[in-house]
Amino acid sequence: MQDCLFCKIAKKEIKSEVVYEDDTVLAFRDLNPQAPLHVLVVPKKHIATINDLEEKDEALAGHMLYVAGKIAKQEKTADNGYRAVFNVNKDAGQTVFHLHLHVLGGRVFGWPPG
Ligand code: AMP
Ligand code: ZN
Repeated sequence: MQDCLFCKIAKKEIKSEVVYEDDTVLAFRDLNPQAPLHVLVVPKKHIATINDLEEKDEALAGHMLYVAGKIAKQEKTADNGYRAVFNVNKDAGQTVFHLHLHVLGGRVFGWPPG
């Protein structure tokens, strides 16, 4: 997708602070962190939202969760706890329409979310 911010970040056309990368996903620090740890895990291929996942993307979506766990361990927040969040469309406040998993940690979170 030509004008997609996270496609550009995935292709390294826009700089980001990468914390994990493999053939299918990239994880980088959020520019406007909402917690001491705030990383975004994105697929390298463009998918707009969870609603746009196809059956063939199942392994990729599961891999994003696996990578979230890996990052939490790498960043030493796995045992204390953390949150992994997909925002979908307007009511959830999605602003970038390239699938991304927020991995937030390093503080206590409230429930229910605001
Ligand atoms: P969402 O509101 O779920 O769509 O989340 C989009 C996230 O992308 C927000 O937390 C932003 O702070 C973050 N963001 C926007 N631009 C950048 C960027 N260039 N590098 C890293 N994170 C970004
Ligand atoms: Zn994209």
